[in-house]
Amino acid sequence: MNSITLVCLLLCTGVSSFRFEELTQYVNSHEEEFIETLRQWIAVESDSSDVTKRSDLHRMMDMTAEKLRLVGGSVEMVDVGTQALPNGSSIALPKVVTARFGEDPSKRTVCVYGHVDVQPAKKEDGWATDPYELTDIDGNLYGRGASDNKAPVLAWIHTVEVYKALNIDLPVNVKFIIEGMEETGSNGLDDMIVAQKDSFFSDVDYIIISDCVWLSRRPALTYGTRGNCYFFAKVEGPKKDLHSGVYGGTVMEPMTDLIGILDKLISPSGKILIPGVREAVAHLSDEEWKMYQDIEFDLESYKSEIGLSQLMYSNKVDLLAHRWRHPTVSIHGIEGAFSSPGTKTVIPAKVIAKFSIRQVPNMDPAVVEKQVTDYLHSVFAKRKSPNKLNVTMVIGAKPWLADPKHPLYEAGKAAVKRVFAVEPDLIREGGTIPIARTFQDVTGKSIIMLPIGGFDDGLHSQNEKISRYNYMEGTKLFIAYLHEVSQIKKY
Ligand SMILES: [Zn+2]
Repeated sequence: MNSITLVCLLLCTGVSSFRFEELTQYVNSHEEEFIETLRQWIAVESDSSDVTKRSDLHRMMDMTAEKLRLVGGSVEMVDVGTQALPNGSSIALPKVVTARFGEDPSKRTVCVYGHVDVQPAKKEDGWATDPYELTDIDGNLYGRGASDNKAPVLAWIHTVEVYKALNIDLPVNVKFIIEGMEETGSNGLDDMIVAQKDSFFSDVDYIIISDCVWLSRRPALTYGTRGNCYFFAKVEGPKKDLHSGVYGGTVMEPMTDLIGILDKLISPSGKILIPGVREAVAHLSDEEWKMYQDIEFDLESYKSEIGLSQLMYSNKVDLLAHRWRHPTVSIHGIEGAFSSPGTKTVIPAKVIAKFSIRQVPNMDPAVVEKQVTDYLHSVFAKRKSPNKLNVTMVIGAKPWLADPKHPLYEAGKAAVKRVFAVEPDLIREGGTIPIARTFQDVTGKSIIMLPIGGFDDGLHSQNEKISRYNYMEGTKLFIAYLHEVSQIKKY
C-alpha cells in the first residue's frame, strides 16, 4: 500500500481524523470554567411550578440562549404562548430556545433536547447547603437542578464549544431544543413540536435526551420509559360532612366505599386485579431476561437506599422487570379525608382518591381508562351503596421504547467504551418522560436517552448533586458520541 492510498483510507474511514485526546485534554483544562458556568445557572431559581419565580425562569431561558450564541449557534427563542392560572388570569410561558450548529447536508444531524427549569427547593426542606448556591463537597456539586437537567444541558453546549475552540469541524450538525416547563408537564412544547415538524425537525436524523441517570456506577444507555395513567375516583354521599357520633351507623360512608374499591385494584403481592390490564403487557423474552441478568444492580444497596428490609421480589431480574417493564398501581392520596394531626370524628361527605397505573408496552391509555372505569363501577355496584362514584383519567401518558440494537445505541456503546473502558448497562426507566413519546409520534425520528447523571444524584429530592466526575467525563462522552454518530452509514 503506498502512502497516498493509506492517507485516503484513513481520511475516508474518518478514524484518524478524530482528535479525541486533544478534545478531552481541553475538557480537563477547562474544568473550573465549566463548573463556574454551572454555578451561574444553579444560582437562578428557575422553578417552573412557582409563578412568582417566572421572571427568573425567563432569565434562565435568556442565559441559555446567550450561552448558545456565544458558542456560535444560530439561536431562536420561540414564543409558545401563555399559561392560564387558576384565578382566571394568564402569564407568558418561558420561550423555548432552539439553536443550530452546522448545516452540512452530507453530515448527520442530531437534535439535543434538555430543560433548564427545576423542581422547587428550599433550605428548610432539609438541604445541607443553599440549594441555589452550587457547593462542592468531596467532588460532588450540590444544587437544585445540578443533575436534572442543567449540568447535562451545559455538557452538551460545552461539547460543541470544545470542538469549536480547537477548530475541529463538528462531525455532525447539532441542533438544540431547550425548554423551561419540563417539571410541570412541558406546557406549550407539544404544540411547538407539531408546528415545527416540517421546519426545525425536517433535517434532524436523531434526537438525544440526557434527562435521566445511570442505574449504578456503571454508565448506562436508556432505551425505555414507562407511561402513566392518573385517575381520580370520587365518592359523594350526604350533602355535608356528618358527626360520626350522631349519624355513624345510619349511613353508608363515602370513605368506607372508597377504601373498599381501592383495595380491589391490586393484591398485597402486587398482582393488578383490573381485568385486561395484565393481559395486555408484552411478554418478557428470553433475550430480555438475559439482558437483565447482565445489568450491574445490587439488591442490598437498593434496600438500604430506601430503608426497607424486604422488597416485593428477591431476585434481580424480577425486581428490575417490575421496576421498568411491568405496570403497577400506586395509591397517592385521598382529597377530602381528615389528615391533620389529632382526632376529629367526622364522616367526610365527599372524598377523591388519586391513584395511577404505570404504563408499559403494549398497554393503551384509552383502553386502560375504560378497563379501570368499568371495573371500579362494577366493584362499587356490588356494595349496593346509595353514594355516587365518578372515575376520571386526568393523565394518559404512553410508554416509550427504543430498539437497543439500533445504530444509535451501537454508537452509544462505542462512545461509553472509548471514555470509560466498559460496556454500558442497557436500562429502562420506571418513570415517565412524556416528551420522548411525543418526539417519536410527531417527528418519527429515532431517539436515544444518553444519561450522564449518577444513580445517587437525588433528582427532585433534597441535596441534589452531580459529581465533577460525571459532569466532566459526561462531557467527554458527548464529544465521543458525536463522532460515533457520524460513523453511522447513511442508507
Ligand atoms: Zn429532568
